[in-house]
Amino acid sequence: MKRVAVFCIPAHGHTNPMLAVVRELVARGDEVRFYSFGEFREKIERTGAAFVNCDQYLPELSAKEEESLKKVSSTEMAIQDIRITAAMDAFLHGEFTAFKPDVVFTDSVCFWGKLNAWKYDVPMVVSTSTFAFNQVSSSYMKNSPGEIAGLILGLPRVSRELNKLKAMGYKVKGLFSLIQSDNQTDSIVYTSKRFQPCAESFSDHYTFVGPSLLTDQKLNKDHERPLVYISLGTVINDRPDFYGKCIEAFRGENVDVILSCGKSVDKASFGALPENVRVYDSVDQLDVLSRADAFITHCGMNSVSESLYMATPMVLYAQTNEQQAVARRVREMGAGIDLKDDSALGIRDAVRKILDVPSYKSAARECCDDFRKCPGVKGAADFIESAPHASDGVDIIRDLNRVNVGLQVGYSLLTILLASVLFRFISAKYLWIYVALAVVLSTPVNKMLQRAAYRRLVKAKLK
Ligand code: UDP
Repeated sequence: MKRVAVFCIPAHGHTNPMLAVVRELVARGDEVRFYSFGEFREKIERTGAAFVNCDQYLPELSAKEEESLKKVSSTEMAIQDIRITAAMDAFLHGEFTAFKPDVVFTDSVCFWGKLNAWKYDVPMVVSTSTFAFNQVSSSYMKNSPGEIAGLILGLPRVSRELNKLKAMGYKVKGLFSLIQSDNQTDSIVYTSKRFQPCAESFSDHYTFVGPSLLTDQKLNKDHERPLVYISLGTVINDRPDFYGKCIEAFRGENVDVILSCGKSVDKASFGALPENVRVYDSVDQLDVLSRADAFITHCGMNSVSESLYMATPMVLYAQTNEQQAVARRVREMGAGIDLKDDSALGIRDAVRKILDVPSYKSAARECCDDFRKCPGVKGAADFIESAPHASDGVDIIRDLNRVNVGLQVGYSLLTILLASVLFRFISAKYLWIYVALAVVLSTPVNKMLQRAAYRRLVKAKLK
């Protein structure tokens, strides 16, 4: 029997995949304390774990901070994460001293879980509710120049807050060491190796267990009219305009529609609903997906995993970078198409395509078969109980970093060598053109060389 301390940020998408794993740990006789927030009490208590309410450590938010969090600003989320860690310091000192956990199971972006595991030297297993992102797989996430600028401008604020944690005795190296997936941390990822982008770049400290679900729902697609399910998840779902267009799109069509729109949308604004459309605050999504033939989704990792687990092809309406990365992977698997035109007509055409072209359905079915072969929650529980894990030493990212240093030194030396040859023939006043060219070319040339080096390493190491 193990004592397991579980930590998660206040977000359904991060909490949900941990629940089935926690229920499995409890069923095995492990003693589990789940540190979370009032909103999640009911679902956590249903797993049998002891729920520890941390509401009092949530900071008061200004209107501006609340707005930034709604827009999923990485800087704001990091700052609030740090503030909660600081507020929980004395409380968690008491908890770690009294409960003496054998292992910490924490969400990958829950700083207070990770930092306290390090502080009290307790083996840690990280729960990754999205894809695992390292320097290779993060090429799937395209940050806009505005977002990159926002991140850079926010760094001084974040590092001021991090310094406060250092002063409290936390081992903080920097923001990136707190949020990125590294090859030394024992990590559970709720997808398959096939669906995870660049899975080969992760060491055997990673286990890809497939979707973590509370019910083992069977497929139930046997009905006369196709069923279309629509949801934009639980975070950025305040989109009455979009829901209105969906309702219009299917008025009088030979399909049934279930629309889950969240609590904050005023349903009266939709007027009289067509007979084939039903609108809910929230539904049992797995049950609906087990029956659905098409899913219009915002491409949250949980929603997409649940959809593929239920062999339901998708119309992809990604809103954030992370969701774009998930959408790209679904497209690559052939199990969905982007919603390029979000007018009523565009929505209807995209859903028609998903329903009429058989390849989308069969690709979703292949993903379903693949997910159902994964180790699942039992594999995840085994992994937590047997942490910390040894590694076979294969670490493609460590090797790639070494090659990169060599490549950068090589590029600089070559640039200097070329300059010394070139300036025998042309005037030194053109030096700036040469330097500017070398600087501009450095990023694309290095990226190209790194990609080639990565391919070589994968071939050599994973024969
Ligand atoms: N969900 C649900 N009922 C609904 C809508 C969503 O149970 O009506 C669940 C869904 O099954 C999934 C989670 O909420 O597990 C949404 O997580 P996801 O990662 O897809 O998106 P997020 O809400 O984090 O943006």
